[in-house]
Amino acid sequence: MTKRKGLATWQEITTGCVVFDPGSASEYHTGSWRAQRPVWDNQKCIKCGICYIFCPEGCVQQSEDGFFQANMDYCKGCGICAHECWPRAIAMVEEG
Ligand code: SF4
Ligand code: SF4
Repeated sequence: MTKRKGLATWQEITTGCVVFDPGSASEYHTGSWRAQRPVWDNQKCIKCGICYIFCPEGCVQQSEDGFFQANMDYCKGCGICAHECWPRAIAMVEEG
């Protein structure tokens, strides 16, 4: 886990953050709405967890290796994760 000077890591944040299970309503597979999808570049990712915190669907998950990815059943392609990722490790690409 890389820590930016003066900032808490996402694991250290104890208040003001609520993350639900993937999908705000489990019966809605919001992935079917998607026109774009996020693609992670682990070469650029510093494992800060910002994408995990900001995803409005709570569908960004951390793998055992510490990198992140989205559950595509619930990702609606809003692009917030890519917008908030300051190392630019997430690119939004058109759905094929
Ligand atoms: S993809 Fe970006 S926002 Fe997400 S953990 Fe990696 S560097 Fe942080
Ligand atoms: S594009 Fe990113 S922020 Fe938006 S729903 Fe998908 S994973 Fe979450």
